[in-house]
Amino acid sequence: MIRRFRSFFGGIHPQYRKELSATGAIETLPLPDQVVVPLLQHIGKPAEPVVKVGDTVRTGQVVGTASGVVSVSVHATLSGTVTGIATIAHPSGREVKGVVIESDGADNWIDLEPCEEWPSLPPQAVRERVSAAGIAGLGGATFPTHVKLSPPEARPVDTLIVNGVECEPYLTADHRLMLEHTGQVVAGAVLVSRVLGVSRVIFGIEDNKPDAVQAIEAEIRRVAGSSAGFEVPVTVGVLPTKYPQGGEKQLIAVLTGHEVPSGGLPVDVGVVVHNVGTCAAVFDAVRHGRPLVERVVTVTGEGLKRPGNVRVRLGTPARLLVEHFGGMVGEVGKVVFGGPMMGVAQYNLEVPVIKGTSGILIIPRDHIDTDDIRPCIRCSACIEVCPIGLLPNMISVCAEMRAFGESEQYHPFDCIECGCCSYVCPSYRPLVQMIRFAKTEVQHLKAKH
Ligand code: SF4
Ligand code: SF4
Repeated sequence: MIRRFRSFFGGIHPQYRKELSATGAIETLPLPDQVVVPLLQHIGKPAEPVVKVGDTVRTGQVVGTASGVVSVSVHATLSGTVTGIATIAHPSGREVKGVVIESDGADNWIDLEPCEEWPSLPPQAVRERVSAAGIAGLGGATFPTHVKLSPPEARPVDTLIVNGVECEPYLTADHRLMLEHTGQVVAGAVLVSRVLGVSRVIFGIEDNKPDAVQAIEAEIRRVAGSSAGFEVPVTVGVLPTKYPQGGEKQLIAVLTGHEVPSGGLPVDVGVVVHNVGTCAAVFDAVRHGRPLVERVVTVTGEGLKRPGNVRVRLGTPARLLVEHFGGMVGEVGKVVFGGPMMGVAQYNLEVPVIKGTSGILIIPRDHIDTDDIRPCIRCSACIEVCPIGLLPNMISVCAEMRAFGESEQYHPFDCIECGCCSYVCPSYRPLVQMIRFAKTEVQHLKAKH
């Protein structure tokens, strides 16, 4: 069933520019000569290396094992020789260890263990296969998926939301995945819904992707009644296009009417949210036994010759993706991993693609605002667009005055760092950065006491 939903409070309508890459079918990047596989590609503790320099590895072989409850394994994304375990450039800007693998050109895979009976696998077996595959949320949050498949017994989950919103401007990887790998996405969602034991499933897709809405709905109908179909009611929710519609809290509020409490998690209101790419990876892991060694990335922006979408091995340097799409044109102002609202600017094109890399955006210099930061004029534009209902102006002023204790009364930790406030501020105040600063300093203060 397709159903239209209303929008959420606040938010903005930036230039989406999805047309640059939305019609570009997913291409496959030729295998690189070398990959640098970070041991941290997820929220939580880095994986522990289990290979050493000189080892030969096969594609899909574990090179780092999960080092705690909230951690995931990482795998060789090429076959070849380990030539280094070193501190590497990482998209987050943090210092992270990575495994360097020189390709032997053969792409010699480990022996995979497919499972024909995937629809009838018990929940624990599904969790184990997902955990072994090293899946972390592909929407960008990179939370370990097997942990999300094991909610605490005290907090039962009744609703699975499948997030196909992709509200970040420019990004189209999830859109293409829903069009070209519809079966994988839906089958993965079926598996997740069975493991969680939910009583309903809701897909969330913005109304700027009507073809994806139709494709997902048709696939749900195609498998209905078969062993591979949903056992609970499913709705394809069509949402007004507005940023940040794909934020978990906004999506839950609109699709279920529940509000995730301050400091709480979706499970507190009986909901779990999984991205469409994560669902496809779950299906690959359970049905084919494939570890997560690649993902689809949108490479786009006015500073790129030929924007598009590409399937790429994790650990591939951004440089190769940019070259694949014809290279940069004109004077480039910024290279961003992710979208323009929440992405992270990079200083080095050797930075590798990781599990959470949804896009690489090339922004021309003349698209970058260089106006000076000015004092707050109390116009309240930031308050009107904040989807959480915060006072970004007040948090930023507290941060500026180093009044971190006082900033707490304005709930900085509820900020989802969507960037709406900075986007509309006529004084060009870097509100998100100041809110992040306040969060960090409040944490330091708390750690001291
Ligand atoms: S305060 Fe946080 S949640 Fe609110 S608009 Fe700014 S970045 Fe988004
Ligand atoms: S939008 Fe900018 S100038 Fe206006 S109240 Fe917020 S911080 Fe102040």
